[in-house]
Amino acid sequence: MELETQNNKYALVTGGSRGIGRAICEKLAEMGYNILVNYNSNETAALETAKLVEQHNVSAEIIKFDVANKEQVDATLVKWMEDHPKKPIEILVNNAGFRRDALFMWMEEENWDAVLNVNVAGFYNVTKPVFAKMLVNRYGRIVNVVSLSGIKGMAGQTNYSAAKAAIIGATKALAQEVGRAKITVNAVAPGFIKTDMTEGIEEKQYRSVIPLRRFGTSEEVADVVAFLASPKASYVTGEVISINGGLHT
Ligand code: NAP
Repeated sequence: MELETQNNKYALVTGGSRGIGRAICEKLAEMGYNILVNYNSNETAALETAKLVEQHNVSAEIIKFDVANKEQVDATLVKWMEDHPKKPIEILVNNAGFRRDALFMWMEEENWDAVLNVNVAGFYNVTKPVFAKMLVNRYGRIVNVVSLSGIKGMAGQTNYSAAKAAIIGATKALAQEVGRAKITVNAVAPGFIKTDMTEGIEEKQYRSVIPLRRFGTSEEVADVVAFLASPKASYVTGEVISINGGLHT
């Protein structure tokens, strides 16, 4: 819902309806940003996030598009940007993602493509238009949510590991291209975080290999994202910060 707000600064969080994305929306709202909450299918969850955001006296708008579908991104996000030229998106958090695990031997082409499309094509489809506007405004913060899998590689996740590693490369390359325009590009790499995505993974089974002996929370990831998105991180770019309880790579 669009409320009378204190400012015109916007942050876009892809996959903001649930899990890590929802926690990021709340943290950025706490920082005074109006939030565009992207979701793919779960409107109820997106509306719930919007309610939480509005408790911080900023506005929240839910915006439905599949990041992997360029036509949808153009018809919704790009249109929103054209309709609201005075509302610059200063922060972009590329958080939407999913996994379709299988050993490579049994990896269906469909699951390979789906994971690459959401995580990698999704990055392109959303970042390209938002970043073009940041260049004009000569300010921006882009934070990409990658994964320990993209650093270390995980058995059963060749598709997901490849996709997240690609975004780590893109983070480092884009950071070098846009530093001059005062745009920073960083990534966070969570380990095991308690969300719908890790439902069914037994925390007990992994405790002994995680030095901090537990899974992380979405809020713990969101705190690092909020730092990277803030003016306090003005001299940090091209970095990948791990949030994994010490689970080594
Ligand atoms: P989650 O609880 O499953 O939530 C996924 C979010 O992404 C939802 O908001 C979902 O929207 C959205 N989404 C999925 N596909 C989308 C698409 N094609 N277009 C737009 N939105 C889409 O996942 P999470 O654990 O919070 O994960 C968030 C990010 O962290 C992902 O990039 C994931 O790879 C990364 N990560 C998670 C962990 C972990 O342990 N949880 C670890 C490392 C990295 P709907 O609600 O509409 O479905």
